[in-house]
Amino acid sequence: MITLGYAARNAESPLRPWSFQRRDLRPDDVAIEILYCGVCHSDLHTARNDWGGTLYPSVPGHEIVGRVTAVGPQVSGFRPGDVVAVGTLVDSCRSCPACASGEEQFCEKGVVGTYGGRDRVTGETTWGGYSAAIVVRDSFVLPLPEGLDPAVAGPILCAGITVWSPLRRWEAGPGTKLGVIGIGGLGHMAIKLGAALGAEVTAITTSAAKAEEAARLGAARTLVSKDPEALKAAAGSLDLIIDTVPVKHDLTPYLPLLGRDGTLVIVGMIGPTEPFHTGLLLRGRRRISGSAVGGVAETRELLDFCAEKGVAPDVEMIRMQDIEAAFARMEKGDVKYRFVIDMASLKGEAAA
Ligand SMILES: [Zn+2]
Ligand SMILES: [Zn+2]
Repeated sequence: MITLGYAARNAESPLRPWSFQRRDLRPDDVAIEILYCGVCHSDLHTARNDWGGTLYPSVPGHEIVGRVTAVGPQVSGFRPGDVVAVGTLVDSCRSCPACASGEEQFCEKGVVGTYGGRDRVTGETTWGGYSAAIVVRDSFVLPLPEGLDPAVAGPILCAGITVWSPLRRWEAGPGTKLGVIGIGGLGHMAIKLGAALGAEVTAITTSAAKAEEAARLGAARTLVSKDPEALKAAAGSLDLIIDTVPVKHDLTPYLPLLGRDGTLVIVGMIGPTEPFHTGLLLRGRRRISGSAVGGVAETRELLDFCAEKGVAPDVEMIRMQDIEAAFARMEKGDVKYRFVIDMASLKGEAAA
């Protein structure tokens, strides 16, 4: 099947139309016409080779919502016409201890990313959701529950699950005093999901001007991280902090906000942090943890939760042709809070 997508040819080139081959259906494959795809920071980092190792041509996109067009003979869970979602993972070994416990994202044999990975059968590069269609192993395809708008659900698949997994791991719920650092693609979902779980959410931001927005998203209060007096007054007040800041930063102002046995979870791939004094960890037995997306079952749970609670990402719809402008705005933090590409914009476009 020939598919049209948008690809980076190298680290310097803007994304351009590119026609490529999607594999023929294997017995357990699902073919999906892509309707919408969210735009994640990882897409930009990969296209520009910021983390090294990008396989070109690179077709980013791992917040995919689409409609099933065909299924392989062994597929029983999906039928043509079903509205489905695909996140950051498209395959794993399914048998190692991590996979067996539903944490495919930590597969010991190496998980296969939706783009920029290597297919487990053929070794071919995987290409993501900035395209008209995709073929995915059925166990990595998620049904989109009734009640979730397909046009806005995409960002649940990466931004959403990235914050949901630590919220669940550290049991955020009624009585939890939750801090969320940064109000962006991930942060706005962390506030919404934390509030929907019943936690008392404190939005932690550099700008007092964001307080109104944070309240609209569900935060009980806003803490301005540049206000030393406010930070001092909030010392020891939080059980859990989800740190969504996407660039290198200093944890020193934030660790004292945690109470005894409190945990700060880093969810951004930000390289080294600034040095901080270990006394900040010893006092109160505080922890720093990391977290990366989530497993298939956990993502299903999140989609169901969002449908049930009416939680949806705030998105701005764009055309595929406008992706470079969207990247530029995303780099400046100028988006509320996630771009989603309407793949109908690809129709009628000819490949280069
Ligand atoms: Zn992502
Ligand atoms: Zn595995």
